[in-house]
Amino acid sequence: MKFSQMFIPTTKETPNDATLPSHQFLVRAGFILQTGAGIYDYMPLGKIVLDKIRAVVKEEMDKSGANEVQFGFVTPLSFWEESGRATAMGPELLKFKDRKGMGFVLSPTNEEAVVNMIKNRITSYKDLPINLYQIYTKFRDEARPRFGLMRGREFLMKDSYSFHATKEDLVREFHVMEETYKNVYTRLGLDFRVVSADSGAIGGSGSKEFMVLANSGEDTLVICPNCEYGANIEAATRKPVKKEPLETKELQKIETPNCKTIAEVSEFLKADPFYSMKAVMKKAVYEELSEVVLFFVRGTDELEETKACNAAGALELEDASEEEVRAANLVPGYCGIINLPENIKVFVDEELKEENNLVCGANEENFHYAGVDLTSMQNLNFADLVAVQEGDICSCCGGKLEYKKGIEAGHIFQLGTKYSEAMDAKFLDSNGKSQPFEMGCYGIGVSRLVAAVIEQNHDEKGCIWTKETAPFIVDVIVSNAKKDEELEAGMKIYEALKNAGVDTIIDDRKQQRFGFKMGDFELIGFPYAVVVGKKLKEGSVEVVDRKTLEKVEISIDEVVNYLI
Ligand code: ATP
Ligand code: MG
Ligand code: MG
Ligand code: MG
Repeated sequence: MKFSQMFIPTTKETPNDATLPSHQFLVRAGFILQTGAGIYDYMPLGKIVLDKIRAVVKEEMDKSGANEVQFGFVTPLSFWEESGRATAMGPELLKFKDRKGMGFVLSPTNEEAVVNMIKNRITSYKDLPINLYQIYTKFRDEARPRFGLMRGREFLMKDSYSFHATKEDLVREFHVMEETYKNVYTRLGLDFRVVSADSGAIGGSGSKEFMVLANSGEDTLVICPNCEYGANIEAATRKPVKKEPLETKELQKIETPNCKTIAEVSEFLKADPFYSMKAVMKKAVYEELSEVVLFFVRGTDELEETKACNAAGALELEDASEEEVRAANLVPGYCGIINLPENIKVFVDEELKEENNLVCGANEENFHYAGVDLTSMQNLNFADLVAVQEGDICSCCGGKLEYKKGIEAGHIFQLGTKYSEAMDAKFLDSNGKSQPFEMGCYGIGVSRLVAAVIEQNHDEKGCIWTKETAPFIVDVIVSNAKKDEELEAGMKIYEALKNAGVDTIIDDRKQQRFGFKMGDFELIGFPYAVVVGKKLKEGSVEVVDRKTLEKVEISIDEVVNYLI
């Protein structure tokens, strides 16, 4: 493309409400235009980037075997009444009536629409599994639309929905989607982490989020630097999933373990790589240890509490003075033995139990982050503890946890039968029995990703696009396009790069000076510029790397090879 033919309205003006670099630069570089709160138009460069990201998502989804469909942006309110979400979604769901008084909503997500699509069309287990996806506009009447494309009201999401005959098959597809998502974010050139998450209003049990690491992210993540463990702070502090209580007689079967005293437990655990409370509990339950002690911490807010727990991980509790413990923002407490088999003792602080505080657990010597919501500890019994320890932190190697900020760029859920039951969507299983579908749902914030790329890749001059997301890879800057020899040389390089398959734009504007063109290059953030100017007489050009702003002189004959 030629700059002279493109609509790229760059400006020095920063919108008043734009606090994030992505918001400022995407507006200033002429990618997007705000028309209302949380509503944006995409100008040509913005549309190219959006489509590039969309294409990567589509390719990876197609590779996974999912089918592309398209649901109406408007769905009948009756669907939402059937699922119970007409009210449960709250004011984010924008409802309206047509001239006949029929209720409709602007789709914020499409579980209801997809159940409606497959209901009575897939009737047998033989036609399962199936995964349907779309990349289409969503509307959520967000309470605080802000940060540009990061939290819009109208935005582009890839949403997909899978249907299964069994839970096991749902779990299989969930893993396929996790891998698919990892491929997407890797291809986009993003530094990201997969974390355990809460399911929120969408519902379901297992859920994972894909977090693009950036200081401006709205989410706090608890991450292990040494292994794959990661959780959104809400999930790290969530209530344990309630499971069916274990049979009493099963509990009785647990025999007195080898370790009979807390000292022996401590000795055992010292040699063990797991230090988290959940791991301790797991050891206690499955390896039949005798005593486990839980401690609790209280901080000024959730993050403080979490930090405090982590800080305490370094303390040998036995050796720590109360002052040291307090310095780490800790208020330790033991107390009340709860309903456990005789050979496992757990101490609960009765006073703290009243408050919604974070719980930390440790054996006698190691005090470590555990991440359990204290409210869930009320009436805690053995089965709850099994559920607690089966949470995610067992899956951690025991490394010292870190806290990072992240942008939620995707979220995958194991929904189970929540929607199929509510909407009476069933199939016949291999025994001829009617069953509700097991469902999964999977979202990627396509337009949010446009902003996320820039949050992770920018400097004080502007955007720095990654290879897969850049609107053009190379910007051939003709220093003075009024000089025929410069324009001709530029055009030759431009054509050669295009022929070599490199997405290229040529800044052939006659009315703009070199400095202005360079400023646009830096603000827009194409990965490379080829400057055709002074060096032309010597048969060479300058190649500028946007990331490092380093310049190299390259002979004209070499420039295509240099850039491919
Ligand atoms: P958030 O916690 O940021 O409000 P969410 O958990 O409500 O997001 P999901 O329902 O999980 O969002 O939707 C799937 C994906 O859609 C999210 O992971 C996110 O990338 C994207 N998304 C959600 N809300 C918005 C929004 N208001 N603007 C842009 N993208 C969004
Ligand atoms: Mg939300
Ligand atoms: Mg969320
Ligand atoms: Mg989410």
